[in-house]
Parts: sequence; structure tokens; C-alpha cells
Amino acid sequence: MCGIIAYIGSKSVESVILVCLTRLEYRGYDSAGIAVLNNGELQVRKAVGKIKELEMHLQAHPVTGNIGIGHTRWATHGEANQINAHPHTDSQKNLAVAHNGIIENYYELRHEMLGKGYVFHSETDTEVIPYLIEDKMKEGASIEDALHHSISRLKGRYAFVLISDRQDKKLFFACDGSPLIYAKGENDVFLSSDIPAVVPLAKENYYIRSGEWGWIKDDGELVLFDKKKSPKTYETHQIKIEAKDTEKNNFPHFMLKEIFEQPKIIRSIIEKRICLDEAKVLFPEKESDNSYLGRLSRIVLISAGTSWHAALVGKHYLENIAKITTEVDISSEFRYRNPIVSGDTKVLAISQSGETADTLASIYEAKAKFLRVIAFVNNTYSTIAREANAYVDLLAGPEIGVASTKAYTAQVLHLILYASFLSEIRWVSKKEERKKLYSEIKKLPEQIEEILSQADIIKQWACDFKQSKDFVFLGRGLNHATALEGALKLKELSYIHASGYAGGEFKHGPIALITDQVPVVCIATKCETYEKMLSNIEEVKARKGKIITISSKGDEKTAKLADYNFSIPECIPLLSPILNVIPLQLLSYYVSVERGCQPDQPRNLAKSVTVE
Ligand code: GLU
Repeated sequence: MCGIIAYIGSKSVESVILVCLTRLEYRGYDSAGIAVLNNGELQVRKAVGKIKELEMHLQAHPVTGNIGIGHTRWATHGEANQINAHPHTDSQKNLAVAHNGIIENYYELRHEMLGKGYVFHSETDTEVIPYLIEDKMKEGASIEDALHHSISRLKGRYAFVLISDRQDKKLFFACDGSPLIYAKGENDVFLSSDIPAVVPLAKENYYIRSGEWGWIKDDGELVLFDKKKSPKTYETHQIKIEAKDTEKNNFPHFMLKEIFEQPKIIRSIIEKRICLDEAKVLFPEKESDNSYLGRLSRIVLISAGTSWHAALVGKHYLENIAKITTEVDISSEFRYRNPIVSGDTKVLAISQSGETADTLASIYEAKAKFLRVIAFVNNTYSTIAREANAYVDLLAGPEIGVASTKAYTAQVLHLILYASFLSEIRWVSKKEERKKLYSEIKKLPEQIEEILSQADIIKQWACDFKQSKDFVFLGRGLNHATALEGALKLKELSYIHASGYAGGEFKHGPIALITDQVPVVCIATKCETYEKMLSNIEEVKARKGKIITISSKGDEKTAKLADYNFSIPECIPLLSPILNVIPLQLLSYYVSVERGCQPDQPRNLAKSVTVE
């Protein structure tokens, strides 16, 4: 959460920073700001709202300079107003800081500084950072030493960038637990919260590690230290993301583009991971220790939000295909419940961004208990990929819409492939069974294309539901998670209250919600609980709820019961969560648009949740 950017280069600093902030906006969009140094003079501008508000503010109050920092905020401490917006300065306005994360001991530090006579202007935790540095510099320390000393006082997770009029040719930074990337091109050097923001100007990058700090000189050289102030070396990697991957490409929103990218993504995962002739799944990142995998007695899946729904599907796969006892835990719960585990338990962490703070904290907890951790991430350079013992690249490409779509289906597909991979190692599946499964998986891209070709059906429904106040989603077995995911998508994008339930639980309470004003989405594709799901539909019908069904193609019975029916191509039940979620993604998108909401940037949310 929060996007930070810092730039030194040949181009106009303020316009580069504005472009980068717009691309970082998915990380937070309640306020924004910029600070630049112009021949030793510090200029700061801030605005409440999205980057376009900052842009307008800058038109009225322009800045120019040769080095600068910018921030787009997702508030944790203090409301979204101009004073709380970053960058924050010291009391003399000599230095400016843009920060991502939470300074957990800010309260104590603030009181210490108040005792010394400093006056705070904002309610943020961030403001203690420039004051700590200023205070040390007043004692005669250089800015470098003051920075080093100040980070030794900070607790919590942070990444921040800093400029100072005392050193107007250097960009300073520090990082502990929140993402920060050094990226450079021919004549441009950046520090950024992510890579897509700086493509195509930047060509190579280095992910700054937790505990590292230092500065960039105006010739682009990165000077890096660890917490003890020992110099560190680093190696840059070529950036593989292309500019077209980070653009809307004629779609009105990133979310819709990403929904429509799913056939391509699934196809490329299949090509990369499945060797049909040998009935093998290829995990290039797989651990070499197969005997360890063979002996595993338990897997704990940890994740948050939409990734947690993928994990719920994954539990079915790991238990049914790989025959391993599997638990699913919400990352923020696993972290604090002191779980009982043994050495033959493996933790599988799922995170789209690879930076989810709760999941990262759970990984540290698991490693402290000597458990091995494998991470499924969509960013192989992320902190989670580095901290886990092994990682699997989800291969979904950059996902910019705040609500995850293609990364979710990529997660679910990877989970079934991983379960199948383990089933071979653990001798619990036959070659023919795996071959059959893989040939069914190979049909997915075309099946998704077929669903997407009928997106207009759902677009038309959206108009009927735009006034709804409550929605219920029902599913059973593997598709209980699909119901939860459909409900989450709808509520986060359209602000309509929505809840997902296991069909069997419905009569134990939630059925009280049903009136003729409540649409109920019933996932009723062919599987072993199909008949039971039909009974749930009848129960809703008897209470006059509006019935929306997701059914298998050719299933007249379900279609007749429904007020609205969407048919998906027939598939084996194991793969139904991948197909069934697509119409629900479309439903949430179109209802959101119909209600005048902003599906790419829903209220109060941000992607890449880097605070606990
Ligand atoms: N804690 C800082 C603030 O509230 C930064 C928030 C964040 O990184 O999400 O301004």
C-alpha cells in the first residue's frame, strides 16, 4: 500500500514523477504529493484525492527541479487530508520524506520529540522520520549518519525515500519489510514501490532487501549499506515486463482487460508447466528434495483475501489428488494463533503481489518454527519469493486492477498442478489419471474464451441489479470458495453488501435474509453435490428470492428454475472453480460500472497490502 517514487534523470522531474505516481495509483489513492529540489531549494506540493488532483494543483503551483520524490497514499494513521499527505518535512523544511508502511513505535518517538520542543503538524506515523533525522543533524551528524541512526530507532515495516537541500545531488532511502526497487535506464534512475511504474524508462533493477539503506548519486550509482553500516554489493537484473503489459490496450478498465487476458494466461501456464506425453507437471522452481515431499504429512495453506479463496480450493486439490491432510489459514490468524506444527508440515503461502504483509509475517512465524515454506507468487523478485525456501511463479503477468482476477485463476490452476505434481512424487496417482486431468486442463483456455464471448449477457443483467442492497452467493464443495470470491468481488467493487455461504449452511441462518429484493447467485454446475444445490435453489425460490444460476451447458433443469441463468462449458468438477468464477468476475465488474463506481480503484482499498 502507498506508492513511492524517487527520480534523478535527464527528464522533467515533476512530469516523470506524475506519470509514475499515476501508475502506482493502484497502491493507494486518497491523497498524493511531490517534493523536488531545485538548486538546493526544497519545494513540496500535496493534494487530497487522486493523482489528477495533484496534477491540477501543480498546474496552479508549479515546481521544477533536478531530483524529486513522490507519494500516493493509503492512509493508516490520520485521515486523508492535505496535511497528512506525504512528503513530510522536518521543522526547518530542509528535508522531505515519502514513506510506505507503519512506524509501530511512532507514539513513543513522537512524545520524545515533543519533549524536545518539536511541533508536529500531521497525525501520521511518518512525520517522526524527518524529525529524528533533523534532531541528529542538529547534534552535528552528517545526513548519512543521521539517517543511519534514525532507522536504528524505528520499529515496524517501512520503505522510505528522502531528499535534502543539504545534499541536493543524492536520493536517500531505507527499507525494512516494505518493497522498494532501484531501477535504472540509460539516463534515468528511480526508486519505486514496483516495476510496472517505471517501465519503459528503466531497463534493469535491484530489489532492495530488508534492512538495507543508502543513497543514489546523480550519476545513478547505488550506494548500499546494511543495518550495521557495512557496505553491501548488489546485482541488477534485466526488467522483463513490457510497456504494453502495463497499459489498458483499448479496454475501459484494467480489470476488464485482465478478465479477458485469462485465456492467454492459462494457455501460457499450460504450455510452460504441463508435459502431456509424460503425464508430468514441470515446476522449474520445484524443490530438489523429493523424498521430503514424499514424507510430508500435512500442508498448511496461508494467504489473505482473494488468495485465501484460492487456498480453499487448493485444500480440495491437495486432499483429493495428493492425499495430504491440508489446513487453510488466513495469514493474519496463523501469525498469532501459535499453531501446533511438526517438521513434516509444509507451509504453502499464496500472494499475488508477493508483498502481502500478513502473509510475510506468517512466513517468518513458520520459519521460526523450522517449517519449510513454498510461496506461490506473481512477482518472483518480491520479498515473499525471497523469504520462502522455494517459490512458484504464477505467470499471470502484471495485474493492475485492484481486484484480482487473472492472478486468482492462475493461483487455482497452479494449485491443482501442484497437487498433481505431489501425487506423482507420493505415488498416489496413476500416469493415466494424470494424463486425463492434463488433457481436461488443456481445454480451459477455449472454454474461458467461450464464456467471455457471452460477456454481454451479464452486462445486460447488471442494469437490473444496480439498485440491489444485498446479494447472497451459494456454492458447495470446491465452489463454496467460488461463492465467497463472487461475494467479495461484488462488495469490494460495487459496495453492495454481499455474502457467500456453503449451500448446506444456508438453512442454518442466512436463509432469513431472503426476500423478493435479494438476488441469490447459485453455483450449480454438474458435480456430486449438484442435486443438493438444486434443493437450495428451490428453497430460495419458495421464499421469492431472485435466482441467478451458473449452470453447466445443456442443463435445462437448472436454467428453468432460474430468473437469470448463465451456462458454462461442461468440464470435470475439479476444474469448475476456474470456469465458474469468470461470470462472477464479469458480474461484479459490470454492476460496479453500472453504479458509477470505479472498478480499478475501489473505495478504501489498495493493491499489494504491505501493512499488517
Ligand atoms: N503510515 C503512513 C501513513 O498513514 C503510510 C501508509 C502506507 O504505507 O500505507 O501515511
